[in-house]
Amino acid sequence: MSISETLLEMKRKAGEELDHLNGTAALEALRVKVLGKKGELTALLKGLGQLAPEERPTAGAQINEAREWLTQRMDEAAAHLHKLERDAALKTETIDVTEPRPLPKVGASHPITLVMNDLIDCFTGMGFEVLQGPEVELDHYNFELMNIPKNHPSRDAQDTFYIDDNIVLRTHTSPMQARAMLTRKPPIRIVCPGRVYRADEVDATHSPVFHQMEGLVVDEHVTMADLRGTLTTFAKQLYGADVEIRFRPSFFPFTEPSAEVDLTCPACGGKGCHVCKETGWVEILGCGMVNPKVLEMCGIDSHRYSGFAFGIGLERLAMRRYGIRDMRLLYEGDARLLSQLR
Ligand SMILES: [Zn+2]
Repeated sequence: MSISETLLEMKRKAGEELDHLNGTAALEALRVKVLGKKGELTALLKGLGQLAPEERPTAGAQINEAREWLTQRMDEAAAHLHKLERDAALKTETIDVTEPRPLPKVGASHPITLVMNDLIDCFTGMGFEVLQGPEVELDHYNFELMNIPKNHPSRDAQDTFYIDDNIVLRTHTSPMQARAMLTRKPPIRIVCPGRVYRADEVDATHSPVFHQMEGLVVDEHVTMADLRGTLTTFAKQLYGADVEIRFRPSFFPFTEPSAEVDLTCPACGGKGCHVCKETGWVEILGCGMVNPKVLEMCGIDSHRYSGFAFGIGLERLAMRRYGIRDMRLLYEGDARLLSQLR
């Protein structure tokens, strides 16, 4: 058989096989068999040396022409097969968009944030504005303007972290009182929630980082009756219409007079239980009438204006609401616990 006859036969057989391929794997097998290193066409090329020299150029051109024809046919077949296979896959892998899927895990607010948001709702409802201030605070605002001069004994109870002699991590949200009074004119009605710091050892009821919400009202004719009315509204809104509050005399350098405020125990309704240590009352916050000295230091005329202030510990409220006895649980970030507190 001449070279041209052999090539013709090769193309005819390959064409027949290409028409009846059952997949891309069979096509690759055919490609190797005909065009591969040990394929039929390569064998013909290697046989060129045995031809008479004058026949070689024509035979070589014929082989190359056949290679191009075969390569093109196989590329076309490959494209066609890929399309068929993709269409088949699309049919079998159709996604049913109406099929119900498992619900995604949704996060929730931290218990401290929940309590804080409730307080903000309550006080903004009474006309208070929410202010936030720096956690890294000047000693001047944190202590001096709160009537706690250097060497004042109450600094011991509020030992904190010092950045330098004049800059501290704030020990309470009270410096926001000074910041508000120095930048605003009465009437002032603000609440200031935020993080505060003390150099306390971690235990079930102490943490070096905790949260407070400060409240301040300054206006003409503000009296202790306004303070009591505001806190009664707050207590009843959070704990129900039946709760009562009581004031106990206390001391804070920045208020005069000062009081601790107790609430009828939400656990027993005032009968006495382990939560209230059988007293029927639980402490919820500290408050008082703004010390006239603080008003004057902050540029407010204490003869014309008066005010009241209060500070609420948010951890205490959250622990009581959720029945948590160890404060550390609030900070450990254990999702098994936190996901129960909503
Ligand atoms: Zn009780």
